[in-house]
Amino acid sequence: MSGRNFLFVPGPTNVPDRILRAMHRAQEDHRSSAFPALAKGILADLPKIFGTAKGQAFVLPASGTAMWEASIVNALSPGDRVLAVRNGQFSHLFIDAAQRLGMQVEIIEEPWGGAVQPDRIRDALKADKAGAFKAVLVVHNETATGVTSDIAAVRAAIDGAGHGALLMVDGVSSVASLEFKLDEWGVDFAIAGSQKGFMMPAGLGILCVSPKGLATFAGSKSNRAFFDLRDHVTHNATGYFPYTPALSGLYGLRESLDMLLAEGMPNVAARHKRLGEGVRRAVAAWGLKNCCTDPCRVSDTVTAIVVPESGDAEKVRDVGFRKYNLALGAGLGPLKGKVFRIGHLGDLNELMLLGALAGTEMTLIDTGIQITRGAGVAAAQAWYQGSAK
Ligand SMILES: *Cc1c(COP(=O)(O)O)cnc(C)c1O
Repeated sequence: MSGRNFLFVPGPTNVPDRILRAMHRAQEDHRSSAFPALAKGILADLPKIFGTAKGQAFVLPASGTAMWEASIVNALSPGDRVLAVRNGQFSHLFIDAAQRLGMQVEIIEEPWGGAVQPDRIRDALKADKAGAFKAVLVVHNETATGVTSDIAAVRAAIDGAGHGALLMVDGVSSVASLEFKLDEWGVDFAIAGSQKGFMMPAGLGILCVSPKGLATFAGSKSNRAFFDLRDHVTHNATGYFPYTPALSGLYGLRESLDMLLAEGMPNVAARHKRLGEGVRRAVAAWGLKNCCTDPCRVSDTVTAIVVPESGDAEKVRDVGFRKYNLALGAGLGPLKGKVFRIGHLGDLNELMLLGALAGTEMTLIDTGIQITRGAGVAAAQAWYQGSAK
């Protein structure tokens, strides 16, 4: 098929040519005296993306999922009690990881499509007079449902309960796209990966840890080897890694950081907000439902769209892919077949999204879902034109 594949899954996202070029290079000795300049620069700049002046960043040859594990095994011990909110597939898998690693997880269930309710966290922590909960686990941006939870409010709930639990936040589809303030929100472990907001191929797990989080490493009784962040603390201090780093990924990350910091994180967030709003207006113009049930918590990086009862979201995805070379995100877990997702994060502009919306319209009509051709595109066009600087 000629032309580009229209990649609108919420990750991997489109990799800018600048990053592709930066990664396309010969390998080199990661123990040379020249290497620390690259590593130190990256580790110094990464915390800026997480909104922290005090936190420490880690980069592993891994993925977002691995950073759940790295957070849990370095901070917690088997048998520890943790409090977690489940409101979609990624929070479900975060919980699953904690359970497999031996944690006792108390789960606050929310509807899939709803946001984290800070009051419920506060109540659960208030009831925990003995301070048994060692950590609170939440997903900032639930990629399965397109819901962004309020992490500042989660911090306020923890403080309101007077509880000392760590705050572990999955920011895989928010960090580097949405506003993220590790210091201000009192986040102790912020989890990310390279293939979403960082606009890179998958392959790097990225983590940022607060001073309070760093202080937990020594006390954890969990077994760890590859994920032992103490080795990273030691080696990173000299500009090296404890084992072979994913060198091409580091060059890509250097370029990604340059791009993000040149645009400025508030501008990155504002761009995502504006682009995301166009998609939401298109969905409304189609007469379809956003999976996110709280209009104040819609995600600016991904929109999950509910197909009518008679429709099949998997068919929408397949027809879009085969007929128009358009990749839309799948419904995950119990949402399979019920929703499809449009990822709108990373290296993206208005016309790319209008192309994706046009392809989605044709696909919806092809699969028998009644919408007016052009309605969504027109609504997004009007928004993008009217809100252009
Ligand atoms: C993509 C994603 C993950 C999983 O990351 P991998 O890099 O695929 O391991 C975890 N959490 C959220 C919120 C995600 O969007």
